[in-house]
Amino acid sequence: MNSNKLYINGQWVAPIKGGTFETINPADETLICQVAAASSEDIDTAVKAARSAFDKGHWPKTSGAERAVFLRKIADGIRAQRKPLAELEVKDNGKPLTEALADMDDSAGCFDFYADLAEKLDSNQEYPLSLGDTRFKTKIRKEPIGVAGAIIPWNYPLLMAAWKVAPALAAGCCMVLKPSELTPLTALKLAEIADMAGLPAGVLNVLTGLGKDAGAPLAEHPDVDKLAFTGSVPTGSRIMAAAARDIKNISLELGGKSPFIVFADSDIEQAVEWVMFGIFFNQGQVCSATSRVLVERPLYEKLLACIAQQAAKITIGNGIQEDTLLGPIVNKSQYDKVLAAIEKGKQQNARLVCGGKRPAGFDKGYFVEPTVFADVPEDSFIWNEEIFGPVVAIRPFDSEEEAVQSANHSRFGLGAAVMSKDSMRCERVARALRAGIVWINCSQPTFTEAPWGGYKQSGIGRELGEWGLNNYLETKQITRYN
Ligand code: NAD
Repeated sequence: MNSNKLYINGQWVAPIKGGTFETINPADETLICQVAAASSEDIDTAVKAARSAFDKGHWPKTSGAERAVFLRKIADGIRAQRKPLAELEVKDNGKPLTEALADMDDSAGCFDFYADLAEKLDSNQEYPLSLGDTRFKTKIRKEPIGVAGAIIPWNYPLLMAAWKVAPALAAGCCMVLKPSELTPLTALKLAEIADMAGLPAGVLNVLTGLGKDAGAPLAEHPDVDKLAFTGSVPTGSRIMAAAARDIKNISLELGGKSPFIVFADSDIEQAVEWVMFGIFFNQGQVCSATSRVLVERPLYEKLLACIAQQAAKITIGNGIQEDTLLGPIVNKSQYDKVLAAIEKGKQQNARLVCGGKRPAGFDKGYFVEPTVFADVPEDSFIWNEEIFGPVVAIRPFDSEEEAVQSANHSRFGLGAAVMSKDSMRCERVARALRAGIVWINCSQPTFTEAPWGGYKQSGIGRELGEWGLNNYLETKQITRYN
């Protein structure tokens, strides 16, 4: 594979300064390969290629139906390599193979979905707007924004790329994509697949590299019209500052500390299942992970006991083994952060119910046991800060009002969940929760058709669905007199 090259203007090229960085398998700490490290000079070349493809090329002038053909070819290309791509993602990221396979399906599905929307755009790209003043006739027209820069994280390497590349291409934009340096490999495969699909040169450019050396110059490049970022709040803040200088259009998908409110009338088996899925899936490295759980007091101790019992049964291992349910944390630095957060939880008087350390028998790899804290103080670190690991913080509550207040008491507002047999109560709580996504009687299901994004510091804008396409479209009014 082309891991030592950058994909710029339809060519695989070596980085101008010749830099590389290592990507490591988090399950056994072995080196997978050296990867090309882009510098600001490479980013500049790629942005110029995208600019030229947009300004002088045919791509933004193609019909949605024409673009849909490319998007479907990319979807088919992902499907054709489903298993090897999933295995590569497991190596690079650590996630269990079953989850990686599902991510490949979702990534392909995302390209198909935006192929459909690209086709639909042909029929509603221009539409009339009725005005009070009948001397004027106005129509509204949707046009691609231009050159988009996408910077993505490591927790869903290919899927996060798909969430940005698919709608951008569907809209008629050209893109420069920078994947995370922790998991760069499947994005390079995506470039190979797009190349095989015959995507015109410069329409999609994929450059691996470090945040400071490749991400920052992309965010700061004056010829980028739109920045689409997914990652942490501190980096999101830097991206926003960089965008402010040139008034770039931005969308930000940032962190979370999502609450899950469980009322005492809930079915206990379902509650255990969804609470565990909400935090242990993908090793808890999910922006919307329901990492704060509020349980109504009559169910509290019983639920804790059941979760502890089930957590002990989770098969931990190398994601490539078929029975693995919990793989390693993505790298040493994240692993150290997760263990440090667990120590803080203990120091700040949370009750450790289970887990809390490296599992026995694992000499290599960044494994952490599924960890449950109860009686977590509301002002503690683990109740308020995103840990991004398999660590759940649980507290009891006594009234609906108290639960909603506590759930909303956060600088984040990405996801939230509520569980009860009382449907009216669920609806009431769902409306009261200050979050972009609210799940009732479940946690985490994600649909390509539905908007994804957060309130407060969890971000700006929405991805997926028609909202995702609109991220890459400008709105123009054309008004004529007589
Ligand atoms: P991160 O912010 O460290 O890195 C994200 C990307 O930004 C990487 O590609 C990185 O190289 C790049 N980057 C780093 N510094 C940069 C800079 N100065 N300028 C430009 N780019 C820079 O985040 P991460 O650790 O990769 O991802 C984890 C975070 O992402 C978590 O906070 C998680 O909640 C969030 N996340 C959010 C969503 C969502 O949809 N809201 C989805 C997945 C992850």
